Amino acid sequence: MYDVIIIGAGPAGLTSALYLRRANKKVLVLEAKSYGGQIINAHVIENYPGIQSISGYDFATNLYNQVQALDTGIILETVLKIQEDKTVITNKNKYQAKAIIIATGSENRKLDITNEQEFVGKGVSYCATCDGNFYKNKIVAVTGGGNTAVSDALYLADIAKKVYLIHRREEFRAEDKSLEEVKNKNNIKLILNATIESLNGKQNLQNIIIKNKQGQERPIELDGLFIAIGQEPKNEIFKNVVDLDEKGYIITLDGVHTKTKGIYAAGDTRQKNLRQLTTAVSDGSIAATLAIKEML
Ligand code: NAP
Repeated sequence: MYDVIIIGAGPAGLTSALYLRRANKKVLVLEAKSYGGQIINAHVIENYPGIQSISGYDFATNLYNQVQALDTGIILETVLKIQEDKTVITNKNKYQAKAIIIATGSENRKLDITNEQEFVGKGVSYCATCDGNFYKNKIVAVTGGGNTAVSDALYLADIAKKVYLIHRREEFRAEDKSLEEVKNKNNIKLILNATIESLNGKQNLQNIIIKNKQGQERPIELDGLFIAIGQEPKNEIFKNVVDLDEKGYIITLDGVHTKTKGIYAAGDTRQKNLRQLTTAVSDGSIAATLAIKEML
């Protein structure tokens, strides 16, 4: 019997683990892939209070090591189902806890066009930090209009010969400061009000077809396409114990409470106004503290 099972080893889940272990609680962290969550892909974090600049990888690794140093059990297993009585069923085992914190974050949204998955690793990527280095002096495109797309474009501009930044609207969601930096990079070319219609190439991606507002299509020759169009939660498996909004995020009451007593949701996986590192770790600490107060 664990005190708390945490599902997800991203910033929210690991922060919960940190607080719970420091309170000497018996904790199990279950993670399907590897620690760090989405932040591990951030080239540089400059908006986390108290840390002027750090890579996402270093941040995630420091947090992981901090949690590991407290003898926390972190196991790589995929959760398949959780029950109201706080049983957690994974692809390998069944666990029991007094409380559960769901901190499963979100996954990269797909463009959902033909060939997209076929070209993954052959020109299509969802992670500029991971794959950018393969495109030294080559031509790449980034699609998206948020902070991720803009920071990916800036990162790639220092590696690739040319970077197209393709966005479906005129206005960006990204911060003004980084948009200013984009304008100062002479190898980034903005393509606005355009959607990507198809991906083409024999073995590797060779060109994409884009369509403008007037419906005119044209090809762009390139070596790589970085898709940075946001994230989507994967909360279907929790539907028996939590309510989901129309986008699939967990609806929480009063911060991190779900509709089931003793099951909390922390970080990007829950419905909220701001999905940032700061709000993820905030959720993680609050969920842990409430679990101690209410369930242990
Ligand atoms: P995001 O802010 O949700 O932006 C997604 C972008 O992709 C939007 O511009 C959206 O266009 C576009 N998009 C969505 N679906 C599309 C589709 N099917 N086809 C074409 N374009 C599509 O996602 P994000 O940039 O990954 O950022 C996620 C969160 O992390 C945000 O809160 C962001 O601020 C934060 N973040 C922060 C930093 C930082 O502070 N340094 C860095 C990275 C991310 P529309 O604008 O037209 O909807």
